[in-house]
Amino acid sequence: MRSLLPQSCQLCGAEGTAGPLCAPCLADLPWLSRDACAVCALPLPCGSVCGACLDRPPRFHRVESVFAYAFPVDALIHAYKYRGRLALARLLGDLLAQRVALDVDAIVPMPLARGRLAERGFNQALEIARVVAARTGVALLPRACRKVTDTPAQATLPWKERASNVRRVFVCDADLGGRRIAVVDDVLTTGATLNELARVLRKAGAAEVRGWMVARTLPR
Ligand SMILES: [Zn+2]
Ligand SMILES: [Zn+2]
Repeated sequence: MRSLLPQSCQLCGAEGTAGPLCAPCLADLPWLSRDACAVCALPLPCGSVCGACLDRPPRFHRVESVFAYAFPVDALIHAYKYRGRLALARLLGDLLAQRVALDVDAIVPMPLARGRLAERGFNQALEIARVVAARTGVALLPRACRKVTDTPAQATLPWKERASNVRRVFVCDADLGGRRIAVVDDVLTTGATLNELARVLRKAGAAEVRGWMVARTLPR
């Protein structure tokens, strides 16, 4: 995160910071509590696995998320994805790399369908994953999986429809025999997309699938 040249804070513009954010802005970010569901990272006052994960255990083993999807992280991610502030991949990837446990064998970025890729010009998950792989030394498998259908963006759908929206949209061409895979993405919302990708990765032999997310939405 540190660079030799003083920079200015990406959030408040303070000059002469050692990294992309000044210390007060960094401290004010919506860091996600570690008192959380051991599977889906939902903050929990007590207990270790939330009711939803107990009722219907997901195909992924667990999620690690740095932030709640709240201000100003939501604004940073929005600027990164939709306003092409590509340099933010470095900041978001650095923050993610510092938070995750490294007992995995490879990183798979959440695939983006071709249409969406053409529209946006880059896969936001892949650019973050590149930074995380470089920082942690974990191997990156950028082409292990593909998304074969352009589904409506999850954000446009009611929560109930999100699981069926992503069914059978991923294809995995790699043999992941016995490997522990971390899926990198910017935001975890319902977990439906990660769940579906985890199903496909496990079918391809992955021994374990976890999510490495920059942010996680919290129920209101
Ligand atoms: Zn600042
Ligand atoms: Zn849970």
